[in-house]
Amino acid sequence: MSWLEDGWRHVWLPYAQMATAPPPLPAMRTEGAKIYLAGGRVLIDGIASWWTACHGYNHPHIRDAVAAQLNAMPHVMFGGLGHEPAYRLATRLAALLPDPLNRVFFTDSGSVAVEVAIKIAVQARLNRGQRKRTKILAFRGGYHGDTLGTMAICDPEEGMHSLFSGLLPEHPVISLPRDAASVAAFDLFLEEHAATLAAIIVEPLVQGAGGMVFHDASVLRHLRRAADHYGLTLIFDEIFTGFGRTGTMFAFEQAGVVPDIITLSKALTGGTSPLAVTIATDELFAAFLSDSPDTALMHGPTFMANPLGCAAANASLDLFETEPRLAQAAAISAQLKEELEPCRSLPGVVDVRVQGAIGVVELARIENPAGLRMALVEQGVWIRPFRNIIYLTPALTIAPDELSTLTGAIRRVLSARENVWSTRTRFS
Ligand code: PLP
Repeated sequence: MSWLEDGWRHVWLPYAQMATAPPPLPAMRTEGAKIYLAGGRVLIDGIASWWTACHGYNHPHIRDAVAAQLNAMPHVMFGGLGHEPAYRLATRLAALLPDPLNRVFFTDSGSVAVEVAIKIAVQARLNRGQRKRTKILAFRGGYHGDTLGTMAICDPEEGMHSLFSGLLPEHPVISLPRDAASVAAFDLFLEEHAATLAAIIVEPLVQGAGGMVFHDASVLRHLRRAADHYGLTLIFDEIFTGFGRTGTMFAFEQAGVVPDIITLSKALTGGTSPLAVTIATDELFAAFLSDSPDTALMHGPTFMANPLGCAAANASLDLFETEPRLAQAAAISAQLKEELEPCRSLPGVVDVRVQGAIGVVELARIENPAGLRMALVEQGVWIRPFRNIIYLTPALTIAPDELSTLTGAIRRVLSARENVWSTRTRFS
């Protein structure tokens, strides 16, 4: 395949040591939960393309909406021009979310949506003359993106805080208040440092890229109480958890508390094209209103509110209204619990957990994630183990037999006598 061989000399892969990274699998076509590779191999996708393709690939309703938009207007700048797909999407998102969350800012990736959330939280205070409240309180195990601003609020190790020290802004990153000791430490931290803080940011219910670590809804209620007490902006980063992934449309619904800012991306367009939103309360928006241009939000990505992405997102919301996605998430959850549970007794497994349509098998160690990935490919599935976990976040439309293929593949690979994942042969 000459395009792959030629391009391999020029492409720089994500999260990869290029000296040793194996070449990627050539994907030719997608449909439903399937990825068709060159040469005729078909893989069942267990992770919905990094948690995006919630309706499966190529859903005809989204495809038709995007095709119509492509003919009418693939893109037009958002500064000074408005278009129906974006204005309709903003209205629908505001209607979908609880009331004070009414103001939608469009961007083109999750990381940038979080950057905008940080900017809104801090500038709202600057606009009101509070110049010392510029820090964002974040949590260990958290992940909010790969840009420099978001790296600074990721887990210090994952965000490479020491490697990039001096370059990254410094924000406090502490333990999530999930038990008596961490609640006490969190409360004390706020008592001592709240005056420097603009906001608290968290991935509600599941820290995704940090290892699919779950926490109880009561944690979010504690954060809400603390944010109210100290007058802090509470940001829920639902870029991973939004759109049914945890069993409810948004994870925060399970806690019965509403954030001041929510960030959404990934499944927003049903995995069709890049689009993200930062949605803020009326009160935060009001902090930017004045007679002076100096208090405006100075942000505007070239491709913000791209009409193709907005058309896809509107079509995706149609599907949440017309097809039983949350019931499908509940069925996936039950099947994951039943079919992953037997992994608990397999060698090297330290935990099995399920939250909504997220299934996780945690191992003591995975020395060779690339080897493990290829062993899973041999079983006809596309799953991307990382850190010490193998996880499933399939399309919410996946058929029960396809899901069984995924869970069966994990069980078989973990039961194999030759533990490809436990011997370090290759960096990935
Ligand atoms: N926030 C969360 C919770 C995420 O899971 C991710 C990506 O995995 C991001 C932000 C960054 O999104 P993007 O990769 O689109 O920049």
